[in-house]
Amino acid sequence: MLLYELAASASKLNGVGPAAAADLQQLGVGSIGDLLLLAPRGYEDRKNICPLLPKGQDPTWVNTVAEVTAHDYFSFQGKMTLKIHIRDEHGIGTLVCFGRNFLAGKLLLGQHYFICGSFSVRYGEFQCSAFDSEMYSDDPLHFGKIQGIYPLSGNLQQGKLRRILNQALEKYARNLESSLPSLSDKKLNLLPTREALFQLHQPTSLANAEIARESLAFEELFFLQAGIARSVIERRQDRRPKPERPPGMLQELEKRLPFPLTGDQKKVILEITDDLNSTVPMRRLLHGDVGSGKTLAALSSALPVLEAGGQVVLLVPTALLAQQHARTAAAQLEPLGIRTALLTGSLHGSARKTLLEHIANGEAGFISATHAAFSKDVHYRNLQYVIVDEQHRFGVEQRMQIIRKAESSAGCSPDVLFMTATPIPRTLALTVFGDLQVSAIREMPPGRLPVKTHLARMGNENKVYEWVRSELQAGKQAYFVYPLIRESSKISVRDAESMAERLSAQIFPEFRLGLIHSETPQEQKEQIMKDFASGEIKILAATSVIEVGVDVPNASCMVIEHAERFGLAALHQLRGRVGRGKDQAYCFLVYAEPLTDDAKQRIMVLKEHTDGFRIAEEDLNIRGPGDLAGTRQAGFLRLRIARLPADMELMNLARKSAFEALESDPGLQRQEHDAIRKSLHCMDIQAIEHEGETICE
Ligand code: ADP
Ligand code: MG
Repeated sequence: MLLYELAASASKLNGVGPAAAADLQQLGVGSIGDLLLLAPRGYEDRKNICPLLPKGQDPTWVNTVAEVTAHDYFSFQGKMTLKIHIRDEHGIGTLVCFGRNFLAGKLLLGQHYFICGSFSVRYGEFQCSAFDSEMYSDDPLHFGKIQGIYPLSGNLQQGKLRRILNQALEKYARNLESSLPSLSDKKLNLLPTREALFQLHQPTSLANAEIARESLAFEELFFLQAGIARSVIERRQDRRPKPERPPGMLQELEKRLPFPLTGDQKKVILEITDDLNSTVPMRRLLHGDVGSGKTLAALSSALPVLEAGGQVVLLVPTALLAQQHARTAAAQLEPLGIRTALLTGSLHGSARKTLLEHIANGEAGFISATHAAFSKDVHYRNLQYVIVDEQHRFGVEQRMQIIRKAESSAGCSPDVLFMTATPIPRTLALTVFGDLQVSAIREMPPGRLPVKTHLARMGNENKVYEWVRSELQAGKQAYFVYPLIRESSKISVRDAESMAERLSAQIFPEFRLGLIHSETPQEQKEQIMKDFASGEIKILAATSVIEVGVDVPNASCMVIEHAERFGLAALHQLRGRVGRGKDQAYCFLVYAEPLTDDAKQRIMVLKEHTDGFRIAEEDLNIRGPGDLAGTRQAGFLRLRIARLPADMELMNLARKSAFEALESDPGLQRQEHDAIRKSLHCMDIQAIEHEGETICE
């Protein structure tokens, strides 16, 4: 049996009834295999003796054999509460038994017991109220071991979870085969699966616990990378005849641009056009900070395909963005003789009919589109290249839909470019996006001044408003962003509607203000954005809907109220809406106290850094990879044992081993790869079961 084959429900174990099973489910544990991989969040050392001696640090971990010297009672919240005095060879201590007066009958005067817990000096005594005890003997049940401390949920308790785990280890782990028999022991000095599991939960030393964790983390990362390697190798088999895609128009465009492309833009365009001329269809991720010029790079890269007579779709998540891109595309491409089109859901009747005809007969070459791009009635003539902007806004299934449309129109797999303004740290590039080639634009177009970021406590925002006023008087524009659309009875947080009212009536009556949020009707939204872009509207109050892609270079102020309620990626994106012109721009983070530690950290990171790559790394450190924008939709990344980015080195090793195994034996048919093949198969089944969870929000 292999670890990943232990798919039987954990409720098969004694003591796991429906309630416990539900609690386990909360912890992500459904099967016995899941249970065995439930990593302790720490360990309790009941093996090494730590006597009753207050140390420098408070509290002090104690694990000792002590004699009960007295029972004593004190009054706590009107209740008589038991206190048990103990002593060992080194010192004395007090066990405070809140709600546990029955312990008077268990910890008897003059007897010896194993005692452990965290002690603190209080009221002149060395006290502990959360202790564990056991009658002293040569063969203790719980003492003399190192025990895992587990994450808990519902009514689960450590003791119960340990008993369940012990049972699972004895019944199921004893006879497990290694998941990576050919690798684990020899090359990397890792433990075989079975030993790793025992050492993870019941380690003989803390050092062994760490070796066990690393061994299991390696297995986990190996299988993650094996899945990636498999799809990379499969795609290599998707070969096509070498395409002929001439560079003429691209050179022409470059000549006409009012500014030179940045070095990074050139590099990225080259990387893409190389792929476009290769015999393997492209799957590339382009990441670069907001305002780094991805759109232009992507448009440029489309030219060789368009010149060769193919169609290109630029897929974006909102109608607003589709329009903006359509305008840019028209301005750049039409002079070169390319017909561009805008396809959104709001297009109806004869206009839609005509457009669909142009798409079907190939007259429209470049199509900027929302989800409407994969509507049933849209047929392409020869769709060869799909560019997905803000890729994390699309679900896996949606991306597949457009790829399938392209396949059926062009007769082969299209080239696909995924774009994201959330810079991808290396760890994620190798995990969630591990089957894509990656291009990055790190360099900003010249002449951009970094946005200055200021903090203000709520209550002091008048200073911020005055600053904004002076910018507005100088002809600039401003955004005000709020976490809620309208007032909520549940939380007292400023909302966009009420604040729009207040800003326009009381604070900035002399300037025209617009309000947009996700519930604003489409047409109204378009009108407001148009007026803001043309400068008629000076202040735009909004929720984070404006986070994505809006480009108004004259806006110089971004005020984010309740900054503590936004994630780091969102804050960075919002700030990226300003500083797109030549003049100095400002971002004001207005926060309400009290701040949680995480919120404080996020705000400080944003204040101190402007480099999106750096911010993304910090975000990963604060939150871990599970929550990062784009990860949930991009694939199922649930790491149970491995920690990223800390285990980066292990991941590189795992990736190397996985690619070696699959490149040398793509079908994993060799006997030494039996366990890997079987394990991967089990994971495929699990991935299918989880698929519902990976679709976009
Ligand atoms: P992104 O999509 O990466 O957020 P955009 O493509 O929207 O960035 O570009 C932001 C702005 O910078 C646009 O107004 C664009 O015209 C301008 N821009 C792009 N490339 C350059 C360049 N090489 N030099 C100067 N300005 C540029
Ligand atoms: Mg963009």
